[in-house]
Amino acid sequence: MPKVDKTDVKACLRCSSTDLEPMYGGIGFGLGIPPTNVRCRNCDFIGMPIILDNDKDYEKFLEQIKVIRYFSYQIWCRLL
Ligand SMILES: [Zn+2]
Repeated sequence: MPKVDKTDVKACLRCSSTDLEPMYGGIGFGLGIPPTNVRCRNCDFIGMPIILDNDKDYEKFLEQIKVIRYFSYQIWCRLL
């Protein structure tokens, strides 16, 4: 049985989808946001994803999504 390497899981801050594509430049460029942004194919969110170490952490993240959403909303209010 092959050992599975640790794989980062990136999840959307808004909808917690993992269907993300990298964004370089774009609307974040002028705001000084580092080019680590992603665009969510599910909800069109553009910004920093939540980066989790593995699927278990992703499950924990889903449980905590309400808190994280509130937190990210606060950040976005300051950016915009
Ligand atoms: Zn999303």
